[in-house]
Amino acid sequence: MYNTKLKLSKDMMKQYNQKLLLRFLMKEGPLSKSDLSKRSGLTLPAVADIIEALEQYNLIKNIGETKSNRGRFPTLYAIKEDALKIIGVAITSKNIAIVFYNILGKELVHHVEELPHNTDPNYIINKITLLINGMLQTHDIDKSEILGVGVGMHGIVDYQQGIAVYPPHLHWNNVPIKEMLENALHLPVLVDNDCNALTLAESWFGQAQEENSVIVINVDYGIGAGIMIDRKIFHGIDFGAGQIGHTIVDDNGPLCTCGNYGCLEALASETAILEQVQKRMKKGFSTLLHDVKASPDLITITDIYQAMLSGDVLVTGILEEASRFVGIAVSTLVNIINPEKIILTGSLIQQIPETSYATLVNSFHQHALKTNTNQLKIVKSDLTDHAIPLGAASQWINELLLGELSLKKDERMVF
Ligand SMILES: [Zn+2]
Repeated sequence: MYNTKLKLSKDMMKQYNQKLLLRFLMKEGPLSKSDLSKRSGLTLPAVADIIEALEQYNLIKNIGETKSNRGRFPTLYAIKEDALKIIGVAITSKNIAIVFYNILGKELVHHVEELPHNTDPNYIINKITLLINGMLQTHDIDKSEILGVGVGMHGIVDYQQGIAVYPPHLHWNNVPIKEMLENALHLPVLVDNDCNALTLAESWFGQAQEENSVIVINVDYGIGAGIMIDRKIFHGIDFGAGQIGHTIVDDNGPLCTCGNYGCLEALASETAILEQVQKRMKKGFSTLLHDVKASPDLITITDIYQAMLSGDVLVTGILEEASRFVGIAVSTLVNIINPEKIILTGSLIQQIPETSYATLVNSFHQHALKTNTNQLKIVKSDLTDHAIPLGAASQWINELLLGELSLKKDERMVF
């Protein structure tokens, strides 16, 4: 019994150190054995052993000798970027995005299409399966090269079992996405909520690489947040953490989909903004949008952003008001969590003019406790349009480099 435990702990320590060096190579590579020894605190012989193992696992490569300033020629090692690929899938209220990445998060190929009218779970899963299989074939990628498929799904997600508990825009109820996709694709699948996926993307590739506590707030058709505490995503007991969209910011506000009045989502999401613009157009408010479409019901959020760029008074006013409400809700989260950084993302944040963004930040500072904002940084995400699939794929990077997933291919899940 004693010996078994000892062996286990030795193996665990070995794996821990292997993953530690891989993380340094991931973030700062290429590096020499001496660089890795300095960064990790491991002895040079220990580093050499690990390098040998990681080369055997086909995870790193020797990229030869490079001249250093001191005239020495250390051999450098780097992650073997194409040895493993990851498939990131986003199922949002607007579209399905499938992106293939290498292990360093570099995009290889992508396919994005609008969410189909038929949102039956079997239909959607079948569609994703066909698309992925088609992309594998077209780009001549063998399934053995794929570490896994990560799904970022809107709504409440049981990430432990890979179940879409309640995605409001699809009206699904406890759909076992992981099981369905694994059976269809014969590849391992991880699933999490889209905001949690965005937070993982920021933690590996964005503006949350160094911080311990970060909140990522996504404002698009809905509004949600991903919360990272001590570098771990905080999901909540019912997987409902980060529901900032349903904090009440105006008691006299409109009815929300959740049944309450004056939720942030009912006032500041793209859906809410569209509804408010249409409502005021019908009441005869003056706006450039009257000339754009024959009826207020035909107006889209894209039309609204276009009108905003032309300085439309009605649209600008509504966006200002929405930005103020987002600032109030963010202050509530900051008062409770006291994070190091807030990262704002989503199509509304990307589209609103600097004046509205300033209104959001000012409103936030006006409502947040000063003691909780001394060290706080509030920034806009600089990740691309594919941030959700990138985050979905990052679930596998997290598992491989921080979690319990084995570095040895033959010890990982086989289908
Ligand atoms: Zn609500």
